[in-house]
Amino acid sequence: MMDYTIPKKSGASFHIDEGESFEVTNPEGEQIADLVAFNRHNVSEKYSQAYTRHMNNKLRISTGDSLYTTEGNPILTITSDDTGVHDIMYGPCNEWMLTDIFPDEPGGCRENLYLAAKPEGIEEEDVPNTLNVFQKSMVKGEDQELELGRSPADPGDAVEFEANQDAIVAVSACSAAGEPNGDELTSIGLKVPDYTTLHGASIQNEHNH
Ligand SMILES: [Zn+2]
Repeated sequence: MMDYTIPKKSGASFHIDEGESFEVTNPEGEQIADLVAFNRHNVSEKYSQAYTRHMNNKLRISTGDSLYTTEGNPILTITSDDTGVHDIMYGPCNEWMLTDIFPDEPGGCRENLYLAAKPEGIEEEDVPNTLNVFQKSMVKGEDQELELGRSPADPGDAVEFEANQDAIVAVSACSAAGEPNGDELTSIGLKVPDYTTLHGASIQNEHNH
């Protein structure tokens, strides 16, 4: 496997073959990573946050649960999970959201994911709602109000995914400064098969597993 770093407030994309695995890691802890996936042979079929809630029949997924596509097919399955807390209710942070809060730093995960996946022919409007890895969201009370908490990810936490089909995956180190991302925005790590080509991430070092 190869280790890569996605620098803070940026994204990366890569190919993963059916049956192969990769990991999203949290080098410094408390950092959210937004993730999307596309069917590599037909990118109009892509991760669907809504059908992932529906098919798993829950609002939080972990080991043994799959991410489903717009066509209802599993595309990635979580096979190992140190953190156990990930969000499938919120959309990716994005330019209109962050421009209001941080006018000097426009651009968020939606833009990071688009820029990373652009070499694969993905258009900005094609970026779907995300799996927000390491993000803690809660549903409270009878009115089912949504609330975000601080990411519970510890430094070094990893989530392993196995591909259920040939896929393009894009991951963003979340750009939204605030408590859900801990005290400061940091990088996200990726471990991918040796032959993998990434767009947008910097190589960290090489491991043989
Ligand atoms: Zn974000």
